[in-house]
Amino acid sequence: MGNPVEGIGTVGVVGAGQMGNGIAHVFAVAGYDVVMSDLEQDRVDAALAAIEGNLQRQVNRDLLGAEDSVAALGRIRGTTDMADFGDCDLVIEAAAEIEDLKKTIFRKLVEVVPERAILASNTSSISITRLATVTDRPERFMGIHFMNPVPVMKLVELIRGIATDEATFDTMRAVVASLGKEAASAEDFPAFIVNRVLVPMINEAVYTLYEGVGTVQSIDTAMKLGTNHPMGPLELADFIGLDTCLAIMNVLHDGLADTKYRPCPLLVKYVEAGWLGRKTGRGFYDYRGDAPVPTR
Ligand code: NAD
Repeated sequence: MGNPVEGIGTVGVVGAGQMGNGIAHVFAVAGYDVVMSDLEQDRVDAALAAIEGNLQRQVNRDLLGAEDSVAALGRIRGTTDMADFGDCDLVIEAAAEIEDLKKTIFRKLVEVVPERAILASNTSSISITRLATVTDRPERFMGIHFMNPVPVMKLVELIRGIATDEATFDTMRAVVASLGKEAASAEDFPAFIVNRVLVPMINEAVYTLYEGVGTVQSIDTAMKLGTNHPMGPLELADFIGLDTCLAIMNVLHDGLADTKYRPCPLLVKYVEAGWLGRKTGRGFYDYRGDAPVPTR
């Protein structure tokens, strides 16, 4: 684990959902002070409890010392007030994948963060260049795309907007290394690299289900054992969140204007039902019992 990068002492994380709490976790373990916000105090509390549980899991697996885990938790401050980002050197936005929501957050952030602060988004697919336009610092604005679950996954995609300067990119590359992770850089086109390839595959798996080519079970088994993927595509979709998968397909469809990216109507139906995957207890599998049960 590297030491914090010089000049980056306090890191803000906006949105304490599954990605935000993972991002807060890895920065705190790497020695950064972290401010993590969400809309409601109970979400902040749930995120702190999740981080505590995940740190404990790392201790149990001898990946982290017990004292380091306590110290890391002590470095995270939860808040519902954006004004608490006033001493941040870097703020990473990890709220839901909705462009207007992200723009509103960045408009508020520029009013409270110091002028030196770098602003970044964990967006899976939305244009970094477009998000940067609502800020006063497009040259100090980047995409930093973590993978889920953040404490486990090695890769971070770094995305430069059209105006991002070299110093910002170099700082962020150093930040990624200080977290003990590997960076891959991607140009700012819809969904970047990982999701440009991954999410259409998931969407195709949903079409395969929709058209009755296979059941949830047979599609996941086929892809796990047939292509050596650790998870089947539908299981993975539930893990990512079906709303996030749909949002990414919409960004690809709108941004690249190619019908091959049209979201499967069955994916739309699951999202409309509020069956968003693991985070809501039901998606392509039902997680409310002891073992996941396919829902089709
Ligand atoms: P999530 O729904 O688990 O969490 C989003 C959180 O943001 C919620 O707790 C919500 O209350 C909070 N929020 C909304 N508006 C806010 C505001 N104005 N201020 C503070 N908090 C606010 O979603 P997630 O899966 O953590 O995804 C977050 C982002 O990370 C999205 O942009 C998503 O595309 C991206 N991402 C997700 C994955 C994944 O596998 N889920 C992977 C990489 C990147």
